[in-house]
Amino acid sequence: MRRTWLQISACVLALAACQVSSSGNESQNAATADPNNVAQPSGAAVPVSLSRLDCGALHVNEMDKDFAGGAGVYPPGPHDLTDSCYLIRHGDQMMIWDAGFPEFLVGHPMRDPDQTATLDRSLADELKAGGVDPAKVSFVGISHYHGDHTGQAHFFPNATLLIGAQDLAALKAKSDNQFMQMSQKQLAHWLTDGGKIEAVTGDKDVFGDGSLIMLDLPGHTPGHHSLLVKLKSGDVLLTGDLYHGTEARQKRGVPPFNTDKAQTLKSMDKFEALARQTGAKVVIQHERADIPLLPAFPKAAE
Ligand SMILES: [Zn+2]
Repeated sequence: MRRTWLQISACVLALAACQVSSSGNESQNAATADPNNVAQPSGAAVPVSLSRLDCGALHVNEMDKDFAGGAGVYPPGPHDLTDSCYLIRHGDQMMIWDAGFPEFLVGHPMRDPDQTATLDRSLADELKAGGVDPAKVSFVGISHYHGDHTGQAHFFPNATLLIGAQDLAALKAKSDNQFMQMSQKQLAHWLTDGGKIEAVTGDKDVFGDGSLIMLDLPGHTPGHHSLLVKLKSGDVLLTGDLYHGTEARQKRGVPPFNTDKAQTLKSMDKFEALARQTGAKVVIQHERADIPLLPAFPKAAE
């Protein structure tokens, strides 16, 4: 049977077979935030806002099989996931968090026997319709190297790419896996063509004022990060793929394609402790029920 990119590892979100040993140390000027400080009030004078962008959807025929190894985390049967991206404004600077499915899905859904991936319009079109020029985005933060998070990063060539050092090492390694190759192609501007890139080790305080912190939460992939956004109205935690749905958070479900189960559970502990400590609104990026938790671009939470 012909294998499509939706089939391998039973999950396009997983791209599990992409795991590559990450021996490299890519810690080019990674600024590590003190994790003890991430919950402290920033006192930032610079206004910060957060909007949700639609970066696609995925229909999964057997969610529990594909995303929980049949452990009973999700109800039996089909399940619809969303694929969210986010725009953070920090004063006059902008950062995109995660870059969604690739835009070639617009008008061309990808179907296989297990899953269907769709995208209504490109991230660039969505931003332009709301008055944002992608060329003016300063940072693209990627939670991890899977292709439903890297797909449209290339629309932001002037941005510095922020990505976990271990994920960057995996992307830089030679791989025979077609999904890793796809992510490598999507990020080629930074991996090989001279785009500005920063390998993030530990937590990273993006703007240096505590308002936006990439949280080192490995396990889904070796360099996976979530994001803490400190708004005037309260803190928001964007999960990355620490969880794919509400049920996974409730039951500590670990997808079979994660690179490290023990590391994932430890990351869940760290995330939940921070959520309790900050009282943050937790947004599971692939959870459709969480879509209304944040305003849709061009509206923004402040
Ligand atoms: Zn993923």
